[in-house]
This record gives sequence, C-alpha cells and structure tokens, in this order.
Amino acid sequence: MSRTTTVHIDLAAISENIHTLRAPLAAHRFMAVVKADAYGHGAVRVAQHIEPMVDALAVAFTEEAVALREAGVSAPILILEGPHTASDLALAGKLDFWPVIHSDEQLEWCKTLGAELSQAWIKLDTGMHRLGFAVERYADIYDALLSYGIGEVTAMSHLASAEEPDDALTRAQLRTWDETVPDRSNTSLHNSAATQHALSGPSGWVRVGYALYGGQVKGLQNAVSLRPAMRLSSSIIALRDVRTGESVGYGGRWTAQRDSVIATLPVGYGDGYPWGAADGTPVGINGEIAPLVGRVSMDMVTVDVTDCSNVSLGGLAILWGDQPTIDDVAAHSGTIGYELMARLTQRTTRVYHT
Ligand SMILES: *Cc1c(COP(=O)(O)O)cnc(C)c1O
Repeated sequence: MSRTTTVHIDLAAISENIHTLRAPLAAHRFMAVVKADAYGHGAVRVAQHIEPMVDALAVAFTEEAVALREAGVSAPILILEGPHTASDLALAGKLDFWPVIHSDEQLEWCKTLGAELSQAWIKLDTGMHRLGFAVERYADIYDALLSYGIGEVTAMSHLASAEEPDDALTRAQLRTWDETVPDRSNTSLHNSAATQHALSGPSGWVRVGYALYGGQVKGLQNAVSLRPAMRLSSSIIALRDVRTGESVGYGGRWTAQRDSVIATLPVGYGDGYPWGAADGTPVGINGEIAPLVGRVSMDMVTVDVTDCSNVSLGGLAILWGDQPTIDDVAAHSGTIGYELMARLTQRTTRVYHT
C-alpha cells in the first residue's frame, strides 16, 4: 500500500514546447533556463533530455552548474549570478561555464582568470536595479574583458515587467537597451514573457525558463499553445457527507451552505501544495473541476465534490496539470506558478514520462 500522490514530469512536453517556442525565433540562439532544479522538474533529467535541442543552458549559481557537469551534461552553461568567489570563476574556466559579470569584484577576478574562459556575459542594469553595471560603462567593460583574454563577450540585461510590454518601465528599459547595444548579435534581453511578446524584436539570445515547462505568461493565454510538463496528481482516500452548517478542516474556515459531499486527498503543503489556497481553488476530480474547501493541511486537502457526477474512493484527482493549470491554482493562492513549481518538496514521488 502506498500513497498515490505523484509529480508526473512529461519530458516530451518540454521538447514540444521548445519546438513551439523556437519556430518564430529561427535566427536566434536559444538558452534554456534550468535553475532551481529546472523549476522543480529535475535539472539533470531535463538538461540531459533537452541539451541536443538548445544552444545553451542557464542556472543561477555555480553549484547548480557543477551538478549538471557531474551528470555528464556538456552544453555550455551560463551562470546567471556569476561567480560568488574567485574559485567559482576558476571552476568556470575548468568546466566551461559562461559567467555573468555584474560587479567590479568579479571584473578583478577576470583579470587573472579571464584567459581560461571561452565566453563571459556582461550584465547591464537598464532599470531593474537588481544586478548589473551602469550602462555608461558598457564599452569600457567590454574592452577590458576581451583584453583579459576572454574568447567572446555577450551583453545582457533583464526586464522588470516583461509581461507588460506597454508599461512605462518596460519602454524605458527597451529604450536604454537600444541606445546601449545597437548591434544585436552578441546580446541577450528576452526571458519567456519578452520572447512571447516579441518585445522590440528579440536580441541575439533568448533566455527561456517558465514557458519551457508550459507555464502561461500573463496576458498571452491564447497566443501560443504550450503543454504543461508537470502534473501533480493524487486520489481520494475518504468521502463523507457533511450537513448544512457543519464546517470542514482547521479553523472551520469553510462551512457547508447545503448538505455536501467532501473528498479528502492525501496531498498538502508538506508536498508543496500552497497553504494559501482559498476556498474555491479548482481541483480536477475524475475529469471534472471541483472547489477546494477548508484550509490546506500539511498532508491533506478537502474538496467539495457534491456536484461531481462520478466520485469514488481511489478516484483520480489532479491538483495541477492540463486542468486546472498551475497558473489557475496560483491565482487562487496569492502566488505565481513559478513559485509552485519551484517549491515542491522532496517527499513527493516524481515519475518521468518521455
Ligand atoms: C530566471 C531568469 C530568466 C528566465 O525567466 P522566465 O520568465 O522563466 O523565462 C531569464 N533571465 C534571467 C536573468 C533570469 O534570472
């Protein structure tokens, strides 16, 4: 007897999404972002599967890149935060990582270690104010990196509101970017949202994370059809009748307004299902959608299945996947699909499908 709660990862969906996303971007190099364990999908499995289909991979920091090399992944790997220490940079030389250089301290390390690097990226702060050099320094830093013996230098920046193309901040960042790097070949600006909004024509490299996994970028519901690669499923372990006026779960948050049937599923915030999920969060029950009711527990959730036509003990439940999507669940839970993907816990069994 074992708990049925499972995270299914469909690697074929990820490769299909890459095809879909690359089709209009034939002239651009495609970087697949696999930081945070490939947004919870398993960085090694995902990277091994997709490396023949992409030009490079990206992770947040050096340890994530080392884990991929140890698993035999040979594609170039960009380190988005760049080296945290000089020895991180030395490792980049040995294992052929491409560091992002965003600080003067990192520039210093490049003086002595630059000759070992096949490529480095300069991070420019066009207005997000999180990482990067002032754009006025671009030409000097570019020349300095080449003079240290680095093989190739690429300019990058990041948009703070890419999902809102008409936002004043986005327009200001695009203007600054255009003025700073008029030549687009060795540049990279676009994440998932910017790529799909085709902001200002993509730069030389696109850096795509969330969309690879089938996450829907806000405002683009029908623009391209991406397949969710992650499905969190479970099954009904208890069914009970509750009468009008009776409450369900911790704190009695939800009270039945009619005689109701409640299904209990063995999945909770201990697995990564959000504690913040409100009453009414959609749950798939045997192909229909039913509302979550009552607070999410560590190990269980409760669902109002009164209106479902076909419920039985052991019946299949989908917490997120095709229907409802992870973005639907996030919207009911005060968070974003990115966070739900990234915070699945270790105890939930993962099964891979190809
Ligand atoms: C995470 C990240 C990306 C990918 O963003 P998505 O919205 O997941 O496509 C791109 N660039 C940088 C700098 C990032 O940190």
